[in-house]
Amino acid sequence: QTHFIFHSLQAKMSRPVQARRLEGIDKNIWVEFVKLAATYSKVNLGQGFPDFPAPDFLREALTRALSGGNHMLHQYTRAFGHPPLVKALAQFFEKLLGRDLDPMTNVMVTVGAYQALFCCFQALVDEGDEVIIIEPFFDCYEPMVKMAGGTPVFVPLRPNPPKDGKLMSSADWQLDPAELASKFSERTKAIVLNSPNNPLGKVFSRGELGLIAELCVKHDVLCISDEVYEWLVYDGKQHIRIASLQGMWERTVTIGSAGKTFSATGWKVGWVVGPDRLLQHLRTVHQNSVYHCATIAQEAVAQGFQRELTLYGKPESYFVQLPKELQQKRDWLVQSLDGVGMKPIIPEGTYFLVADISPFKSDVPDVPNSDEPYDSRFAKWMVKNKGLAAIPLSAFYSEAHKNNYTNFIRFCFAKEEATLKAASDILQKWKQEKTSS
Ligand code: PMP
Repeated sequence: QTHFIFHSLQAKMSRPVQARRLEGIDKNIWVEFVKLAATYSKVNLGQGFPDFPAPDFLREALTRALSGGNHMLHQYTRAFGHPPLVKALAQFFEKLLGRDLDPMTNVMVTVGAYQALFCCFQALVDEGDEVIIIEPFFDCYEPMVKMAGGTPVFVPLRPNPPKDGKLMSSADWQLDPAELASKFSERTKAIVLNSPNNPLGKVFSRGELGLIAELCVKHDVLCISDEVYEWLVYDGKQHIRIASLQGMWERTVTIGSAGKTFSATGWKVGWVVGPDRLLQHLRTVHQNSVYHCATIAQEAVAQGFQRELTLYGKPESYFVQLPKELQQKRDWLVQSLDGVGMKPIIPEGTYFLVADISPFKSDVPDVPNSDEPYDSRFAKWMVKNKGLAAIPLSAFYSEAHKNNYTNFIRFCFAKEEATLKAASDILQKWKQEKTSS
């Protein structure tokens, strides 16, 4: 009897279980679309990961780490980064940034770039701080700022379609300098920069970065620079690191990812490079959350960087070869989308491409007054009915601006030729059905 009463009392307890900081951030586009792709897709150009193998030298390095003589590689290593990896990263970024780096204080290894971002927001953003985010943006910036108690302030890249009938390029999406300047205030703590940008593939020019840098210095604002696609830049364009601009080193944390760099997204090895005065606070978050990343993956990534250091700038370098291969894949997908009338925006970098779905809209019923942006319903319809997975562009906009761009979807082209060909076949067949009906 008493046992029964005890249980029914417990069942009636209704204290809220969810921490307030989670309010409004429970939905996640990747959870939703990865599930849809797994259930329905025949061809998946949705989530950003290569379906070709990671390079042999990296896989061999992992095999050596796994079964070589050093059994200590199966144990904990230094919390803020396995020494061989932070040393290799410091050596590499010294070259890229043109300054001396201390591997122990200027570099920290994280569980993918994702955890690097999380550490940045937790360590640097306070209740009431504003953080400027450039739209469209990698979606996690917004909930991460909110979880830290900050307020995201959005500023859009605005498209200026070329007048000569040429295809649009990601370079045609630009910040309005006056609009950007108007977002900086006394409350601004940081700006998030993502160049090359996911989803557009925009590679910010020296002029654009200069403008951002000038505003950061003027308003004493930090820059969280997500550069995970730093090696994926095309047509001879150059990736410029904002930390190398005047006045920026002291206020910038630069984030990278071995997943993107070495085509091994499942390893979840990332890093942050920056001044000790900022990184010391990231280390506090890291030591009190994940503490440590898998030693064996760090060891293999260290060897990958050591190899790249010796081949720096040479044709055999993976950082030279990978963009060359991806540029061909990009060109192929651009042509095939253009061929069916799904106008692509040519990306200058990353392995993503955004395309205009307008000509295909008549096949996908519109639902007036729906809360869900049209491109999201289109992408769901496409994976269910055509077996082709892509991501709606509106997923990369804040709630208030989601309905401004609902005619675009994002494709990932880091895929085997056969995968890209299968996607193209689906689109061509679809186009033929449209013209014959
Ligand atoms: N930043 C951007 C812009 C990304 O596109 C991604 C991955 N899609 C990440 C960070 C996260 O990288 P990682 O897989 O290394 O955590």
